[in-house]
Amino acid sequence: MLDVIVVGAGPVGLFLADLLHGCGHQVRLLEAGSGDFANPSVLPGEKPPENHTQERRPMSRVAAAQVERAHAEAWRFRTVGARGWWARAHAVGGRGNLWGGWLARYGSDVFEEGGWPYGARTLNPSYRRAETWLGAVKGELYEGFTRAGRELGVQIRPGTFATRLGVGFRRGNPAGVLTNTVVLRIDTDDQEAAVTVLRGGREETLRARTVVLAASPIETTRLLIGSGVSHPMLGRRLTDHHMLGYILFEPNRPHVRMPGLVPRPTAIIPRFVNRGSSDRRGYRGGYSLELLGPAPVDTLSKEQRRVLGIDTLGGSLTFINAIGEQWPHRQRYVDLAPRARDALGRRIPTVHFHWSRDDRRIVEEMKSTCREVAGALASPGAALMRIRDPFVHPAIYHPAGTFVMGREQRTPCDPWGAVRSVPNLWVADASVFPSGGDGHPTLTVLAHTARVADSVHRHLMRRA
Ligand SMILES: Cc1cc2nc3c(=O)[nH]c(=O)nc-3n(C[C@H](O)[C@H](O)[C@H](O)COP(=O)(O)OP(=O)(O)OC[C@H]3O[C@@H](n4cnc5c(N)ncnc54)[C@H](O)[C@@H]3O)c2cc1C
Repeated sequence: MLDVIVVGAGPVGLFLADLLHGCGHQVRLLEAGSGDFANPSVLPGEKPPENHTQERRPMSRVAAAQVERAHAEAWRFRTVGARGWWARAHAVGGRGNLWGGWLARYGSDVFEEGGWPYGARTLNPSYRRAETWLGAVKGELYEGFTRAGRELGVQIRPGTFATRLGVGFRRGNPAGVLTNTVVLRIDTDDQEAAVTVLRGGREETLRARTVVLAASPIETTRLLIGSGVSHPMLGRRLTDHHMLGYILFEPNRPHVRMPGLVPRPTAIIPRFVNRGSSDRRGYRGGYSLELLGPAPVDTLSKEQRRVLGIDTLGGSLTFINAIGEQWPHRQRYVDLAPRARDALGRRIPTVHFHWSRDDRRIVEEMKSTCREVAGALASPGAALMRIRDPFVHPAIYHPAGTFVMGREQRTPCDPWGAVRSVPNLWVADASVFPSGGDGHPTLTVLAHTARVADSVHRHLMRRA
C-alpha cells in the first residue's frame, strides 16, 4: 500500500511529493490534467482527438478547440454577486504554468492581525526550504525606482523570483504523477484512506495510509463536501487579492535591461499601512506594490497597444501593480450548486462575491498610491493608464481560506494542516490560510506545505 496520496500536482503537490519522497515514503500524485500544459488532457473516458499525444506533439487548432470546450464543461463554475474570472490550469505544475513567479515572504503584521496559529519567525525555516526548492533569485534595483522610493519615503526592494517556472516545473517527478485522474471522493478511517478517482472513463479506488489535499481552495472545498465532510467553516472565510494594474508609458525614457537571471528591473514596495499600531487606516489588512520596467514598448502586443492608444515603439513602459488584501467577510464564500452538475457528474462550485466598505476603501487607497508612485517615476510626456480594476470583472487568481487552520478546536485544521475531524487527512494548499496576506501568496503556501510534510512524516513514522 502507498504511504501518501497527494491530490493535485500544482506547485504545492509537487513540493510535498518531493519532500515526502525524500524521507523514503511511497508517494503517488493524482493530477486531473495532463503532464504538459501546452497539450491539455481530454476528458477522462473520451477518445483523444486525432494527433493528440500525451507529451509534446502540438495539437491542431481544431483539436485544441475541442479539448478546450470539453474542459470548460468538465470544470464549470458559477459566480454570484459579480461576474468573476477564475484562472486555473489543469496540468502538472497547476497555475505555476501561468504565474509570474514573484516571491514574497509575509511580514509579521499578516500573521498577527490575521489570527494565524504562528508568527513570521516560526515560518522562517519553512520559507527557506520553499525558496531553495523554487530556486529563488533576487533581481537588481534600478536607480529610477530607488529615487522614487526616497522621494515618497517608502521602502523599496528588488523583486525576488522563482527560477523553476512553467511546464518544466517538475518533469520526471521521482514520486510519479498519475495524470488524467480526477479525484472524486476520499474516505478514511483510523487505518487507511480510499480515494475514488475517474480515470479513462471508469471509477477506480486507490488506497494509501494517508491523503493530502493540494487541489487549491475551491476544488479542495468541492472534494471535502463531496466526501461527506461537514463543518460550519467549510467554504467560509474565502479570501483573494484585489489586483490593480497600471501602465506608465514614457515616450522619452528608453527601456532598461539588467544583467543576470531577472533581466527586467523589478521592485517591491512592501506594505506600509496598518503596521502594528502605526499608520492605521479605515480598513483591515494591507497591500504591497510591484514595479516592472522601464520595459520595451513591444512587451505589449500590437492589439494591446492599439487599445491603449500607443502608436510608437519608442520609449518605455513601467507596470505598476498593487496587490491588496481582501479581509474575510461572511458574505464571501464558496459552496456547491444544489443541482447543477458538470460533464463529470460533479456539483458545480459557486463563488459568492461581496465587496464591503473596507474593500472599497483599500482599493481607493491602492489607486491613489499607484498614482503617486507613477508621479514620482514619470518623465516629461508620460501617460498613466489603468489596465486592471479589481471591481470590474474580478479575477480569482489567489483564492485562500475556506478550511482554515488554528489553535482553537473550532477550526477545521490544526496548525500543521491536519483535518481535526477526519483521520489520515491533511490540507496542504491555501485553504488553511486564516487571512489572505498582503502580497503574492505562493511562497507562504509552500512554507505551509513544508510543515504539512513534517506532520505527515511524523505520523507515518509513529505508525511504522
Ligand atoms: C495568472 C496568475 C499569475 C500568478 N502569479 C503569481 C506570482 O507571480 N507569484 C505568486 O506567488 N503566485 C502567483 N500566482 C498564484 C500561484 O499560481 C498559486 O498560488 C499556486 O499555483 C498555488 O499552487 P497549488 O498547487 O496550491 O494550486 P494549483 O497551482 O491551482 O494546482 C492545483 C492542481 O490540482 C489539480 N486538481 C484540482 N482538482 C483536482 C481533482 N479533483 N483531482 C485531481 N487533481 C485536481 C489541478 O488540475 C491543478 O493542477 C498566480 C496565479 C495566476 C492565476
